[in-house]
Amino acid sequence: MSECVKVVVRCRPMNNREKDLHSKSVVYMDSSLCQCSIVNPGDASAPPKTFSFDGVYFTESTTEALYNDVAYPLVEGVLEGYNSTVFAYGQTGCGKSYTMQGVVKPPSQKGIIPRAFEHIFEAIETSDDSKFLVHASYLEIYNEEIRDLLGKDCKKKLDLKEHPDRGVYIQELSQHAVHNVEECEQMMDKGWRNRATGATLMNADSSRPGQRDKPKRVGNVTDIQMSKAKIIIICFPKLPGATGDRLKEATKINLSLSALGNVISALVDGKSKHIPYRDSKLTRLLQDSLGGNTKTLMVACVSPADNNYDETLSTLRYANRAKNIKNKPRINQDPKDALLSQYQDEIRQLKELLENGGGAGAGQLQANLIPLDSVEAEKEKIRQEYESQLHQLRLSYESEKQGKARLQADVQSLKDQYEKELKEKGSSGAGAGESKGKLAPHQIPIRRNSTIAPDVNLTPQQHEAFARLQEIETNMVGGEKADDLELLEKRQKKKKAAEKRSKVLAETLNRNDEDDALLIKAYDNIQEELRAKTDALKKSKQKIRALEREVSDLYSEFQSDRTDYLETIRRQDQQLKLLQAILDKIHPTVRRDCNYVNIDNIKSEAVW
Ligand code: ADP
Ligand code: MG
Repeated sequence: MSECVKVVVRCRPMNNREKDLHSKSVVYMDSSLCQCSIVNPGDASAPPKTFSFDGVYFTESTTEALYNDVAYPLVEGVLEGYNSTVFAYGQTGCGKSYTMQGVVKPPSQKGIIPRAFEHIFEAIETSDDSKFLVHASYLEIYNEEIRDLLGKDCKKKLDLKEHPDRGVYIQELSQHAVHNVEECEQMMDKGWRNRATGATLMNADSSRPGQRDKPKRVGNVTDIQMSKAKIIIICFPKLPGATGDRLKEATKINLSLSALGNVISALVDGKSKHIPYRDSKLTRLLQDSLGGNTKTLMVACVSPADNNYDETLSTLRYANRAKNIKNKPRINQDPKDALLSQYQDEIRQLKELLENGGGAGAGQLQANLIPLDSVEAEKEKIRQEYESQLHQLRLSYESEKQGKARLQADVQSLKDQYEKELKEKGSSGAGAGESKGKLAPHQIPIRRNSTIAPDVNLTPQQHEAFARLQEIETNMVGGEKADDLELLEKRQKKKKAAEKRSKVLAETLNRNDEDDALLIKAYDNIQEELRAKTDALKKSKQKIRALEREVSDLYSEFQSDRTDYLETIRRQDQQLKLLQAILDKIHPTVRRDCNYVNIDNIKSEAVW
């Protein structure tokens, strides 16, 4: 079933600077109708422009209310297996961080991100039939470059890749197993300190591998559900000292933002076959959230002040258009996500390994493993070398069909050497089974529900398999507070309240469509019908007039943008001619042996 992107608008209070400037408030909100109006400070006679949304939050509103109204159902969706995205949009200084990260005091203004963490873990801890794997990653897109805010090297630029099953993903983005709210908050703080000032994405993937109660062994993973919660903050660029026209220009040249606008337009237009997701990194990452398999909430943040009128109007228009984007969220039943399928495969192979005493499967298995530490990495390398050499040997064996005995001896000696090296590595860096001490703090195994006991006679591979299985088990969370009746009740109450609120909201939004209903209603007498229909007609006429004004406003804005662009092109043309003239004059004076004498050569070797 398709559902539209949900859009709410939040208006922050006037700040001190605006108060000092004696700015006037030009934004009005009617929360009973979910409408936001803006008055043009330059044209007092023009009627206000009115937009309706899925919710409006005026200056004194709390993030708590916003979360409970619109974010709660989305995060609840994640727990049911849907993908969800929440993104904040708006001019710098309008409250995106305030809404997403939030403040500690007052508690009602705690941000959407920490609320989502609490919500997710509350649900996981009280779940009595599921175990979850929760991973967090945190990235930033700044000037079209992607960086991992929680990675080993947060300066390293990462690549976007596309995979037929996984969709768009970021290569080498680190994923961190998290077991509770505190760990999530630590991750967020760490990432926040590492960021520049671009768009950031906080990802909390929660996955539900199977049931906890029945077979307690992780080895029996069956139905894996995978969903992602993405929390995204989109910022306008902040240039030092950029104000007025320069800021406008900065906004214009920000690729991510204009690309986002184009994607929204193309999606809403309905006629465009091509959606230009590929025009920027941000839109590629948001591909699933805009027009894809995701429940999406956009929080548009605005300032009330008259001096921000242009930006505020533009944000409201963006937001108003985004409302029409249709998504097709569905529960993820396919374990398509690479990490989860990887875990699933791994668990199966590990089980086999433990039960059958290792053997040929080991090398293949290792290819999927994430090294536990450097010793493990070393072992992994040796093993891969061994595997590839073995493969080579087998190939030549097939093709030549001779010297069989010699080849087998080679295989044997390789195997011996491998075992020896592995043993040496094992004793120098503690065997895989005992390598627990080297795990990162969040991975320290506290063995819960484990039913697989280490065998004294395990081979090195089995030892490793055992350690790995333990690690996966350790990272699974869920059900810790399943017996906490008070918490369960609290959660039930919140869920009920959320359902009630959605109903009220739906009614409010329906009321906005009442005019249409008037026309098909049955009336007691002709007079009444006439009055009702005249009223409806009046309202419709007003709406048409407002829309006509909007069209002409947009047209004149388009014209002025066009003039701006033409101006820019003319200026660049002039510049180009000037440089060409200079070049023509200088070129004959360049020495013959100089690298720059052959301009055609330079051109052919130049890359853009
Ligand atoms: P952005 O992240 O969009 O650049 P911020 O969230 O940093 O903007 O907000 C700018 C300033 O306005 C901050 O000092 C913040 O505390 C304040 N602010 C934003 N929204 C609100 C709000 N709803 N209520 C009170 N103060 C707010
Ligand atoms: Mg911010």
